Amino acid sequence: MCIWIGIDDTDSNKGGCTTYLGYRIISQLIERGYDIIGYPRLVRLNPNIPWKTRGNGAVAFRVGRGKGRKILIGEIRGNKIFSYSSEENSQIDIDDIKALVEREIESFAFLSDENTNSGYVMTKEKPDRSLYETCVKGIAYLDDVIKILDSLGAIYRGYKNGRGLIGASAAVSWEPIDRTFEIITYRYREKWGTGRDVDKISVIEMDKTINSTFDNYDYDNDRVLITPNSPCPILFGIRGENPDDLFKAKDMIRSEDYEGWIIFETNQGTDDHIERKKIIDIKPYESVIVEGVIEKDPYTIKGGHVIFSVKDETSSIDCTAYEPTKNFRDIVRKLRVGDVVEVYGGVREEPFTINIEKIRIKKLVRIKKKVENPICDNCRIHMKSLGRDKGYRCRRCGAIKSEDEAKFEILERGLREGFYEVPPCARRHLSKPLKRFVS
Ligand SMILES: [Zn+2]
Repeated sequence: MCIWIGIDDTDSNKGGCTTYLGYRIISQLIERGYDIIGYPRLVRLNPNIPWKTRGNGAVAFRVGRGKGRKILIGEIRGNKIFSYSSEENSQIDIDDIKALVEREIESFAFLSDENTNSGYVMTKEKPDRSLYETCVKGIAYLDDVIKILDSLGAIYRGYKNGRGLIGASAAVSWEPIDRTFEIITYRYREKWGTGRDVDKISVIEMDKTINSTFDNYDYDNDRVLITPNSPCPILFGIRGENPDDLFKAKDMIRSEDYEGWIIFETNQGTDDHIERKKIIDIKPYESVIVEGVIEKDPYTIKGGHVIFSVKDETSSIDCTAYEPTKNFRDIVRKLRVGDVVEVYGGVREEPFTINIEKIRIKKLVRIKKKVENPICDNCRIHMKSLGRDKGYRCRRCGAIKSEDEAKFEILERGLREGFYEVPPCARRHLSKPLKRFVS
């Protein structure tokens, strides 16, 4: 027998980290003679939900007795942690595991923070994948989740308002179609809350060497992205396509010593949150891909946010490149009415706008700029405009010419058709980097 364990919402802005709880629980389960089956999972959920804790990431893993291939998944204080490729049919002590999970949550979750509402789930049978779909793309309700858990005979507990149960259950229900991995190192406890010692040059060297990793360093904005900004136990986390490369990547980083590390299979960088929609069907808190024509030229508002409006055959909507997207805004500012674009992003309720994550410019309009009035065929002099779009007349002989007989130049747009993305420093966990698109 084998059970899935899911945990969510244990962190706060003051610290903590659900992956760290996962790492602790997994290493203790192994010490007690249990096995982990497959990779532990780090599952990011709807990034647009207003009440999310920091990254809205939940953790899930499978515990039982393993057989088959041994997989290296981590290390704690010098001891390697392995999981197994498949499960063996044998008994496990559910009460023992439950007591361990509860003890860890009660000691390490930031339950004193008003926004931390932890939850855990233990279940033999996974909830249907549709639960994951709902939680990554939209909003799920606690009552519905509890009904699902009861129907599966799951063991669960929600602390405080219990909202963490939603993410914990969703993480268990994830069936990866696309996936990436993240290797995460954890600091010694006495270092928590102090500045992280991670050498920038080694991060850049690693980034340039291990090509299957992504979002390590933002070259335009000179920012190391593998270290978090919060006082959590994580030293650094490296994202990539496969575990073998991540082991090498981790070893290339020069840093303070750390207590251990673990590798997660994740939905980060997959665009799992995004759905193609017609504008009229777009609702707040969703993430969408929408194709349309620029209806209003971009303009910059206070705070440096750049807004344009896009329309399709059903309706129109504002799209915003927020200030933290930095140089990406320079691309957006060059768009003009008539350009055809595909916008990827999360939908905010107030103001109702798409927070742009990526944009594909499908067609740039040709913008003609008049450079010279037409010349009269009789008098060889420039003719005079009769007003906007009204044509031209010769001052001397009165001959008339139409508007399009003036001399035009095609405006140099300084922009090409193609895909553009926000810089790595502004990327959301779920958003798929262009590097991962197979063209
Ligand atoms: Zn004339």
